[in-house]
Amino acid sequence: MKKALAFDIGGTKIYSGIIDENGKIISEIEKFQTPKTIEGIKNLLKERISKFENEADVIAISTAGAVNNENTAVIGSTGNLVEGYYTIDFQGLSNKKVFLENDANAAAWAEYKVGASKNCKVSVMLTLGTGVGGGIIIDNKILKGKSGAAGEMHFKMYPDKRRKCTCGSWDCFEAYASGTALKKDGEEMLNDPDVTTYDIIDGVKNGNTKMKEIFDRWINDIIIGINGLANLFDPDCVVLSGSMAQFVDVKAVEKAVNADIVTSPTSVRLAEAGNYAGMIGAALLAFDKGVV
Ligand SMILES: [Zn+2]
Repeated sequence: MKKALAFDIGGTKIYSGIIDENGKIISEIEKFQTPKTIEGIKNLLKERISKFENEADVIAISTAGAVNNENTAVIGSTGNLVEGYYTIDFQGLSNKKVFLENDANAAAWAEYKVGASKNCKVSVMLTLGTGVGGGIIIDNKILKGKSGAAGEMHFKMYPDKRRKCTCGSWDCFEAYASGTALKKDGEEMLNDPDVTTYDIIDGVKNGNTKMKEIFDRWINDIIIGINGLANLFDPDCVVLSGSMAQFVDVKAVEKAVNADIVTSPTSVRLAEAGNYAGMIGAALLAFDKGVV
């Protein structure tokens, strides 16, 4: 059976492990702080690769940032990684083929192959974490767009420059649907810059009506976004993953989305492929694309 040495490279952590053709993790998962320099990231990857590449057929990397359509490079800068990250020559780090995919796209592929969207011909995945990631799968293919940057969730929610997005633009879906956005909703509605996402979640659990109002505003923006995506792509299912997804009542969101839908109703589900979905998806995609 073929094996991939997989990495998940995010703004704060890098994970690594070996994944087989069935999407099974067959080694310990190792965890590192993401180095703050390009050299640091390169050295860390090089060290792991030289140690483990003989056990694998391919190096599969799930990374923050958009990845080109050839799956060989990161295109453009990514807000949460070191400046110039995209200049790294990933192929130069190994004698084996190095395959990259955007982390949300990779996680969407894992959900499609072994998780919540297994039976969905068309699916949209949203990763609700500190930011928002997205992956759209249509007829057994990830929607990549002309450059590789499709499926990122930077479509406009409001026209009046209310809230700055991490991408530098204004009022993107990410700026209203992320964990950071829930805190922002709290700041605005309570006029308190110190309120935390945890305060709001905890308040909702304890029956605090003001916190529930803040939470509902956040959920409502998520519903507006999913409704737009569902009307655009007519998906069999919408999968929610990421650290904030656990707080979402997916059945209630599904009902609200479908109450006002132009296409046929869609199913809204929680992700099932787990915390290492990015690595699993990058590995499976490399195998599915016949890289090795
Ligand atoms: Zn944006």
